[in-house]
Amino acid sequence: MKRRTFLRHSAALAALPLLPGTRSRTFTSTAAAAPLHVNGARLNGWLAKFDSIGRTAGGINRVAYSEADLAGRAFTLGLFREAGFTPRVDTAGNIFGRLEGTDRSLKPILIGSHVDSVTDGGNFDGPVGSFGAIEVARSLREQQVRLRHPVDVVVWTNEEGGTIGSKCAIGHLTPADLDKVARSGKTIREGIGLVGGNVARLSEAVRSKGDIACYIELHIEQGGLLEKAGLQIGVVQGIVGLRWFEVTVTGFSNHAGTTPMDQRRDAMLAAAKFAVAVNEAVRSVPGRTVATVGRMTVTPNTTNVIPGQVVLTVDLRDLDAAS
Ligand SMILES: [Zn+2]
Repeated sequence: MKRRTFLRHSAALAALPLLPGTRSRTFTSTAAAAPLHVNGARLNGWLAKFDSIGRTAGGINRVAYSEADLAGRAFTLGLFREAGFTPRVDTAGNIFGRLEGTDRSLKPILIGSHVDSVTDGGNFDGPVGSFGAIEVARSLREQQVRLRHPVDVVVWTNEEGGTIGSKCAIGHLTPADLDKVARSGKTIREGIGLVGGNVARLSEAVRSKGDIACYIELHIEQGGLLEKAGLQIGVVQGIVGLRWFEVTVTGFSNHAGTTPMDQRRDAMLAAAKFAVAVNEAVRSVPGRTVATVGRMTVTPNTTNVIPGQVVLTVDLRDLDAAS
């Protein structure tokens, strides 16, 4: 769904009438009434409780397939049940709960996020969208609002260790991926089994193009722009593309004491200028491109030798592939 279309739809959502005692209301109703609200206090209560699962001095540590991740998933399954949904774990380990719609011919609206974390992460990254989705489905049910489409609440497994669950859903997980070792120390293959999936039947978790009506994910802001602008919520324009480059700068190693300054081929100096140039190039044009030189490997990496070689990385991201 394009951003403008989404905004139009969400405006319609906000204007959804809420008539006391009316059953089986649908989006087609036009009577003016109060907008529909979820139970924010309940949602915040779940988030506060969840904060203790995997909490360490460094932050939240619920890396996929760890004890804390399994505890987090058990907590999440409990929320589904408490909300009146029978959760289903697919063969990849993704969790689903369905609120039926009124029109059986329509594809589901998928809404959700993840509950695993990065190393030393924050409690809101993932759970806001996951629990928010459960709360939306629960509120719709409690307030007896029937949508035409089914609503499928999804909690993707191992989002932070390489978007494993969502990759399975689009059939992009390769056999080689299964042997990769996740941050918990377990392989993806072992992990999928641990969270209730079945690697022998991964194809059953694959959704075909057209199987869902749309996907909506509420996510905590990670760039700080909304917070700076004093805004509570925004709609993303897209997901940035990411390119990684490895650059080798070749100079000539020589003695740091006896080589005159005008006779050096210092690879480190060139690499430093390169890093500055990358930053200036990106900043010189308007737009949202971001670039980072994050790693430099210097040879011979010694105090008294002019660097002969530097291998450096560039991480480049933008919404627009052309730019
Ligand atoms: Zn996230």
